[in-house]
Amino acid sequence: MTHCANCGRKLKTPRPSGMGRVCEKKNPPPPVVERDLFGYDTAAAAQAARERVALHVDALVAEAHAAVRAGFRRVRAAA
Ligand SMILES: [Zn+2]
Repeated sequence: MTHCANCGRKLKTPRPSGMGRVCEKKNPPPPVVERDLFGYDTAAAAQAARERVALHVDALVAEAHAAVRAGFRRVRAAA
């Protein structure tokens, strides 16, 4: 008979997690994520890269819109 790793209660049947059934439900194991050779969470890294690229693209779009507006302003002032 072993004891629950979380609350210390006696367990009739030891479980692989080392916790009782109730504590296992309260503390579910962390989700398994895909990790690369260096231990990085590849999905989270891809999401972070996507967000950085989106910020960069947004900045470029704003810059291009400003350039177009400035061009129209210049043409109207000349006419
Ligand atoms: Zn417990």
